[in-house]
Amino acid sequence: MPELPEVETIVRDLDRELKHKQIIAVEFLDKKVFQSPDQEIKNIIGQKIKAIRRRAKMIIIDLGDSFLIIHLKMTGQLALQTGKDFIVGGHPIINQNRRLPNKFSRAIFKFNDSSILFFNDVRRFGWIKLATSAEFLKFDQGLGVEPLSFNFTLKYFRQVLSARPRTTIKQALLEQKHIAGIGNIYADESLFLAGIKPFRRVRTLKTEEIKKLWRVIPQILRLAIKRRGTSFSDYVDAQGQGGNFIKYLKVYGRAGEKCGECGGLVKKMKLGGRGTHWCDNCQK
Ligand SMILES: [Zn+2]
Repeated sequence: MPELPEVETIVRDLDRELKHKQIIAVEFLDKKVFQSPDQEIKNIIGQKIKAIRRRAKMIIIDLGDSFLIIHLKMTGQLALQTGKDFIVGGHPIINQNRRLPNKFSRAIFKFNDSSILFFNDVRRFGWIKLATSAEFLKFDQGLGVEPLSFNFTLKYFRQVLSARPRTTIKQALLEQKHIAGIGNIYADESLFLAGIKPFRRVRTLKTEEIKKLWRVIPQILRLAIKRRGTSFSDYVDAQGQGGNFIKYLKVYGRAGEKCGECGGLVKKMKLGGRGTHWCDNCQK
């Protein structure tokens, strides 16, 4: 699932291309994708895009008085077609066949400059919702602090952790209602950089360890955004750029390989149902 850096990358690309454009038509090829009442579809048509932003792992299309919230989940993709070019974010669906719509296309948005945004999804877990300003506020308030915002203070981080002493530190990092946007990749990588084993209970962490973890989380997220996130395939988008942060991953997806720091083997286990990677030597 795309995490904060991957969604941030998509959002920045789309914001640059779609800002100020007007939606002239919307089609849901798969009704399940649109999770608001069907009659609300007509409220999208004619709206101008004010901005495209990210909240947690979701893409927010700001229409001024209302908001489209898009979650790509495991296999969702957004592909913006302008002429023959594509800007693609999320799951690499269209690299096999650069013609859209295809059998995975679930929604189509057409714009006044004849560009088209396709929402494609293989497994159909992704969704789109239309929210009023009040609904959006409620949604926003239900999500945790953004780790790249000023609100992600050491004090806040300590509070979040001290409220769940028996949870493993990795599971605490994944809790979206406390800290938004961190998923499996960046939880494992942050814990590696902080030198903390992912399955340690929160109450066993020393003050210095918590401080180090708090410090490395924004660092790794910023670095990943700079590298356009992590993509697990060799596709490139219309600008010839795929997310290349995969080269910089220290433990995630590297089970059985040598740790770049100590030469020991990177280990893997299931923790709360998630594949979890760590180095026994580098992490205490
Ligand atoms: Zn190591």
